Amino acid sequence: THFGFQQVPVGEKRQRVAGVFDSVASKYDVMNDLMSFGVHRLWKRFVIDLAGVRAGEKVLDVAGGTGDLSREFSKQVGPRGLVVLSDINAAMLGEGRRRLADKGVVNLPIVQANAEMLPFAEESFDCITIGFGLRNVTDKDKALRSMCRALKPGGRLLVLEFSKPTSQTLSKIYDQYSFKLLPLMGRLVANDEASYRYLAESIRMHPDQQTLKSMMDAAGFGRTQVYNLTGGVVAVHRGFRI
Ligand code: SAM
Repeated sequence: THFGFQQVPVGEKRQRVAGVFDSVASKYDVMNDLMSFGVHRLWKRFVIDLAGVRAGEKVLDVAGGTGDLSREFSKQVGPRGLVVLSDINAAMLGEGRRRLADKGVVNLPIVQANAEMLPFAEESFDCITIGFGLRNVTDKDKALRSMCRALKPGGRLLVLEFSKPTSQTLSKIYDQYSFKLLPLMGRLVANDEASYRYLAESIRMHPDQQTLKSMMDAAGFGRTQVYNLTGGVVAVHRGFRI
């Protein structure tokens, strides 16, 4: 691959991911809007609608970062429900805590946790989401099993993640964008080219639609369906704990 990240041993990947999110935390939200031209809001809206969270449900937002998804779910579950925001990175959770407080969201517990080893009792949640997070996880199969375990039987997992563009033309444009424009924007706006190179590279290495679907099925999910957004630049996978 372009930058040789594939050679990075497991422990180093974990450190690199930590370094990336420590360094981008304070600029994270602005960069999201900038890099996706605001479209990440529509992708998240799609996941929120597909999740169909109802009053009284228990929802876990894994790798939730600054809490975009959690904030919406907290409106939907109402006073008898529960939303937990979790992430491995303290700096991202710090931003999340500040932003949720700014928006007047209270009663939303925040838990620092690795998606591979979620510290929740089995069968705790009706719905789990992981938005642009699975890509960063070292052992994705382990994380999928860990999320499956924390779901009640019949509960649903929604994975929102970059995926593989379905057309060749789009794929070419997207390559130009992510390997040229993205690092440049990272340098100019966040003074951090390396983190945005990591972003582009991690997207390329992430399993495509079909592979991720098989991984979910192997981890204990059924009726798994894939929804391509923006021509497959992003995909949502929804599966139910069997
Ligand atoms: N879900 C948020 C959103 O969509 O705006 C944040 C996404 S951000 C691109 C990815 C997040 O994954 C970061 O906050 C990072 O700390 C977190 N992350 C990386 N590895 C993780 C792991 N093993 N377990 C839990 N979270 C992890």
